[in-house]
Amino acid sequence: MPVPLGTHESPRIAMFGGTFDPVHLGHLRSAVELRDALALDYVHMLPAARPPLREAPGVSAEHRLELLQLGIGDTPGLVADGRELKRSGPSFSADTLAELRAEYGDQARLVMALGHDAFLRLADWHEPERLFELAHVVVMERPDHDAPLSNALSELIAGREVNTPAQLMASTAGGLLHLSLPTRMAVSATYVRQRLARGCSVRYLLTADVERHLLALGLYGTGVGEQLG
Ligand code: ATP
Repeated sequence: MPVPLGTHESPRIAMFGGTFDPVHLGHLRSAVELRDALALDYVHMLPAARPPLREAPGVSAEHRLELLQLGIGDTPGLVADGRELKRSGPSFSADTLAELRAEYGDQARLVMALGHDAFLRLADWHEPERLFELAHVVVMERPDHDAPLSNALSELIAGREVNTPAQLMASTAGGLLHLSLPTRMAVSATYVRQRLARGCSVRYLLTADVERHLLALGLYGTGVGEQLG
């Protein structure tokens, strides 16, 4: 188990899962600002091998992980975590949280971070109550993604919401916190894929390494070595 980096005694860990198809600056900047906001030791970013609630991505999990590793580069505290690629069957977040809980221990402050659009579907996830037994849920605001909560979601989160990171970190799991991080980027992987498929520029939506690598591999409908600049 990695040693906690901050002044706090218990490890503070976030799981930030997604399709990352491909990873973009909205994901990466959110992860950095999430780490700052909650004084986290590590943010584990995990590509889902087989996302349970959406169509299979056109790009393999291995390539999505490779792009994520390049995107993170040497960013302190961010970890490209490929564990969901090693499991068979769908990628359930509850199983991943259980693994992280076992690794970091009972006293770890474990957080499952997700954008507001993903949060709106939380009640449809596999074993949603178990998610709160294993971790706190932290919802990051995202431009253009606010809609009313379903009844099922309202029931799931009833009595869990706290208002500050300190209140959340007072316990190991079970809370809910909404965060409005300083930089909220209106960039989505859908938009990036659409632009790539049309041969349009994605400069500054992705890190330069991610852009270069996906062009070199001809992913997302780009030709080999094509310059989209
Ligand atoms: P797609 O457009 O293919 O649905 P996406 O850009 O939403 O993709 P995902 O891989 O589906 O990316 O998202 C992984 C997680 O990152 C989700 O919790 C999502 O809400 C969050 N997320 C994605 N983009 C942003 C962003 N720009 N700001 C904050 N959170 C984001």
